Amino acid sequence: MVRFIHKRQVLLPVLVAAAVLLPACSRPEASSDTDPMLTGTEVEEQETADEQEDTVVLEPAVPAIGVGRIMPVVVEQRDELICIDPGHGFRDPGTGSDSFFPEGIYEREITMQVSLLLDDALKARGFRTVLTHDGVNMPEGADLNWDGVFSAPYERPPYVNNYIRPDYLVSIHVNAVGSPEKCGAMVFFDQNYYKDNDWNETAAAYIRDSIEEGVVTTAVTQLVDSKDMEDASFAINRETKCASSLIEMGFCTNETDAENLQDPEWQRQMAEAIAEGIERFFDDLGQN
Ligand SMILES: [Zn+2]
Repeated sequence: MVRFIHKRQVLLPVLVAAAVLLPACSRPEASSDTDPMLTGTEVEEQETADEQEDTVVLEPAVPAIGVGRIMPVVVEQRDELICIDPGHGFRDPGTGSDSFFPEGIYEREITMQVSLLLDDALKARGFRTVLTHDGVNMPEGADLNWDGVFSAPYERPPYVNNYIRPDYLVSIHVNAVGSPEKCGAMVFFDQNYYKDNDWNETAAAYIRDSIEEGVVTTAVTQLVDSKDMEDASFAINRETKCASSLIEMGFCTNETDAENLQDPEWQRQMAEAIAEGIERFFDDLGQN
């Protein structure tokens, strides 16, 4: 049985106060000196113009990312540090060359877009966050001794362990396979570093459930233990000294998944779902 307990308290959005105060602050002095030479119609027109000047359009406090979500201005800060790992990047484009992605779009682009939305969604829940990279600048302190592209299997785990030391790591990926019918998300976990407890599997299960609930256009989400898999990409789970999940959000070799993966609204839903799963996991952990 899974208990979903929300400890997060969102304080009253400052927007409400701003909506009341701002128009008063920016309102020009009331004009009592209507030009005596104006006709009745002209006076009406001038008053209408004055009214329009009085109208203050409030911009949202937090624009752009997270469209449709009412962003809380004040959020109770949490202690947990979440590391977001955008899969691939730099000279490593990831998968996508033989897929339903248009030319020039690869896994690398999609994972960065979703990772930035996830960063936003986690911050909105009060988590401290850090990305392994921004896709532009090589992270300072990274030991590029394997292939020099900040490889996920071999160069990221030491960087995460030595410099970031998060409570949780989530690595974001796009899947590919020969069969175009294969679709849906997969959440991988690996118990290697946490054999004495079930953090990895529990957290992955929370994320899987949250994707099932929050991303309704995605096919059934699988939960997979990667401990027996040879694939080096799972080293980001195996070699990082923290609880972690690797999420394959969908298959670029499936037409519907490929469309979804490029859709900003679907990306936002996926990011929100992952953040929600992580929040539920840590909330539940705090109860035990
Ligand atoms: Zn990948």
